[in-house]
Amino acid sequence: MLNLILFGPPGAGKGTQSKLLAEKYNLVHLSTGDLLRSEISNGTALGMEAKSLIDAGKLVPDSVVVGMVQNKVENNLGAEGFIFDGFPRTTEQAIALDKILGEHNAPISLVLALDVDEDELTRRMLERGRKDDTEAVIRDRFKVYEKETYPLKKYYQRHDKFSEVYGLGTVDEVSERLQNAIETVNG
Ligand code: AMP
Repeated sequence: MLNLILFGPPGAGKGTQSKLLAEKYNLVHLSTGDLLRSEISNGTALGMEAKSLIDAGKLVPDSVVVGMVQNKVENNLGAEGFIFDGFPRTTEQAIALDKILGEHNAPISLVLALDVDEDELTRRMLERGRKDDTEAVIRDRFKVYEKETYPLKKYYQRHDKFSEVYGLGTVDEVSERLQNAIETVNG
């Protein structure tokens, strides 16, 4: 299995790039943000619980997202691989993911980190105009990223699975850089 994590701050282009890579390598695209938004639009209890946290730029509890990821992985065990987008966001989630994948002998192949500076990120997020993308919420999402998610870089570097990719340029240019990084482990 080719199991990739697309890592990076909010607004770095993880969603767009994950979709392209999922198509190219025939992977299941697993975005916890998309899964949560679909729970909200379906009006489920989980969605209701998550909504106020998402609207405030805070993280949804680990147990909730880990449960969603576990279901999605276990329902797609025949897949050629997964691309995790927006997950893991905490060390606890990373440990849980290793455990889930470990049970199926399908470890993470590579973490691709999109490198984009903060001014550009803010500009992009304001432009896409999502409801949880007001300036105050964006600031909170950055803070959460720096405190909870950025430290995961060390976690994956320790396991020698971390590849940083320059995230500015056209969608196709960035995609090509990501594909080059993937070929080094998938060649
Ligand atoms: P995203 O679409 O990945 O930017 O996610 C949108 C929002 O959903 C985030 O700001 C969080 O509130 C929530 N969310 C998405 N993924 C996770 C996760 N792995 N852990 C906790 N909260 C998450």
